[in-house]
Amino acid sequence: MANAKDFTKILLDESEMPTQWYNLIADLPTPPPPPLHPGTLQPVGPQDLAPLFPMDLIMQEVTTDRYVDIPGEVLDVYKTWRPSPLYRARRLEKALGTPARIYYKYEGVSPAGSHKPNTAVPQAFYNKKAGIKKITTETGAGQWGTALSYACALFGIECEVWQVGASYDAKPYRRLMMEVFGAKVHRSPSNLTEAGRKLGADPKNQSGSLGIAISEAVEMAAKDPSTAYALGSVLNHVLMHQTIIGEEALKQLAKVGETPDLLIGCTGGGSNFAGLSFPFMREKLAGKMNPEIRAVEPASCPSLTQGVYAYDFGDTAGMTPLMKMHTLGHDFIPDPIHAGGLRYHGMAPLISHVYELGLLTAQAVPQTECFEAAVQFARTEGIVPAPEPTHAIAVAIQEALKAKESGEEKVILTALCGHGHFDLAAYDNFLSGKMVDENITPERFAESIAKIPAVK
Ligand SMILES: *Cc1c(COP(=O)(O)O)cnc(C)c1O
Repeated sequence: MANAKDFTKILLDESEMPTQWYNLIADLPTPPPPPLHPGTLQPVGPQDLAPLFPMDLIMQEVTTDRYVDIPGEVLDVYKTWRPSPLYRARRLEKALGTPARIYYKYEGVSPAGSHKPNTAVPQAFYNKKAGIKKITTETGAGQWGTALSYACALFGIECEVWQVGASYDAKPYRRLMMEVFGAKVHRSPSNLTEAGRKLGADPKNQSGSLGIAISEAVEMAAKDPSTAYALGSVLNHVLMHQTIIGEEALKQLAKVGETPDLLIGCTGGGSNFAGLSFPFMREKLAGKMNPEIRAVEPASCPSLTQGVYAYDFGDTAGMTPLMKMHTLGHDFIPDPIHAGGLRYHGMAPLISHVYELGLLTAQAVPQTECFEAAVQFARTEGIVPAPEPTHAIAVAIQEALKAKESGEEKVILTALCGHGHFDLAAYDNFLSGKMVDENITPERFAESIAKIPAVK
């Protein structure tokens, strides 16, 4: 076996790439509570979801099979950038003077620059197979919209994206990249939908939110049988598609004889975190390793650490099924922080359930600490992280410094789920000393939490 001490970058061959996604639900002591129809409060059945999603994806949403084969057409596309590299952060470790060994699984090598194509590609594939002509979606930071635009271009499907207003204004290059891939992009709230017109009339909604953009995209898809809707996070099938990250990381660490003591990922809707951690959770549940698995969220949108575990809508207008999740309330509008991908009021029902089962821990971090960590990371490792994974990096650095005090040779694995090449305005804000931390007094969350529908 190779020695961990010799490696900076641990690669897999194409032939070693996993060929199945992993479904954590198969290994949990209890399944997550089902989504409910908001009218009847009965569990949502496959036919309820059919106006929005192709049946293959609906079946993946509800399956209890442990593994699902990745279609050959999807594997062929994955090979454009997968297997992705696992790096050891040697220079960061040295700068921190820590005995900890820090590894990061880097998803910024994908065409969109993040982990999102891992699910955008199969979603476009299954929609094409079902004869769908157009896909609508929302995008927060622009990463998901970019990934879906790319995937739709590969499979010859039209793509229409509602980009959260704050992000549309701050990130013209993300919009342009989507347009290069052939997508049509709208600023949300827009005048094109009933939800957009209604919610857009309230001045507090002008910067937009993921919840509002989802309402707009869902409304458009529900109206037209040849149009489907795609979500870049939160749903079971999305989390499952991302597990290729963790499956690869398991193999990569095994190559150098390492077992992680701590896994850290940032959580918006939970997909990159689930993607890295669920295969390790399987090993943990099987008693083969015992890492702590920690979700890191922004202090301004702390659904796990400050939200309540309740049935709530996935969107602001209340058009989606009710999902049991940790939520700050569906009409909560987070501060317009730079990590746009983490500005979601809820958390994936599956992550929420696993958190309730005590299988993971959670922590919230304010954005200035995240950018301090990101700059230190960039100046040692040479990669400029997207604002979202700076949350994971900040906690990796906190933990590496604790290990320095205790002298512990801790093995830390983080998800570096995207690069920040389109986020340099955020870095400008930080470097020029203008970045402020968020308002996180409990009153900030109380009003929207009080409006969560009462469902037993
Ligand atoms: C979308 C996105 C996120 C947030 O979504 P998750 O589903 O929580 O992963 C985080 N980081 C990056 C780079 C993203 O593009």
